[in-house]
Amino acid sequence: MSTICRSDIHSYQGHRPNPRPGLLGHEVVGEVVELGAEVKTDLGGDALAVGDRITWSEYFIPGANYYRDVLDLPQKSPGVDKYGHMSVHKEPHFHGGFGEYCYVLPGSWILKLPAALSDEEATPLNCGVATMMAATEAAGIAMGDAVVIQGLGLLGLYGAAIAKGRGARLVIGLDPVPARRELGARFGVDLALDPRAHEEGALVQRIRAACRPDGADRVIEVCGSPEVIASGVRVLRVGGSYVLAGLVNPNAQFSLDANLLVRNLLTLRGVHNYHPRHLIQALGFVAGERQRFPFHALVDGHYRLSEIDRAMRDAAEHRVLRAAIVP
Ligand SMILES: [Zn+2]
Repeated sequence: MSTICRSDIHSYQGHRPNPRPGLLGHEVVGEVVELGAEVKTDLGGDALAVGDRITWSEYFIPGANYYRDVLDLPQKSPGVDKYGHMSVHKEPHFHGGFGEYCYVLPGSWILKLPAALSDEEATPLNCGVATMMAATEAAGIAMGDAVVIQGLGLLGLYGAAIAKGRGARLVIGLDPVPARRELGARFGVDLALDPRAHEEGALVQRIRAACRPDGADRVIEVCGSPEVIASGVRVLRVGGSYVLAGLVNPNAQFSLDANLLVRNLLTLRGVHNYHPRHLIQALGFVAGERQRFPFHALVDGHYRLSEIDRAMRDAAEHRVLRAAIVP
């Protein structure tokens, strides 16, 4: 199974530079049909065998390098490549999720999936969930924090649940889509607001009033709109932190009174992709909290590979939250 991520839609619509002809799909689980001679165990040390159901990192790296070994940012290794983002001409050709077979390359991190986890719960692990593990870690969410999440798409809903898992006392979600705000309540969102229903100053005031005594401790942006950054900064308390994780396309300019950052001792950080530890954490979190949060409900559309055009349209037009391709 491979779910359609927002970045797949951007590539499909031509908004994201992607080699063509390409093979899309990177949020993926699969069953091992053949194992390389040197592959013995997964990332957690569990023995791997033909027939096992696995997930794997959305990227693979060419080997030892400065970013992996010194900076601990393997996802930024020179020569890094990503599943579902490569030309089909590049060997071994089958490196995307929208197909019957996928070649998992050396330099990928593999995790065996527990039998109890459904495909719907497991497929978003290696992109959406692992990314939100990284974003919530970078935000520094601590016990008792008030957290604001800008955007309640798949990332925002996982982010809300993970924020609660990290001990947040209050999670405020912002999204103009009513169905997403409703779904938010099932994923730990205590207060869901429509940012378009308020003038910016009133929205900031409403959020600050809900986060006593001095505003939000953490803000996470996963809506992909740079216009929300200024209000995101204004809802933070002194010493708060703000993580941008949704602005993945170029030309996301914004304007900000940087004096606020200085005077209020704020931290502004960007997060892109994740470290392999976040993949393990993502699996542990979803497996451990699947009774508390209805993760299975997030993948709400199923399509055969031959129906992929319709699946892309339904996903692009928000008729489904996450469309799954089941070859
Ligand atoms: Zn993705």
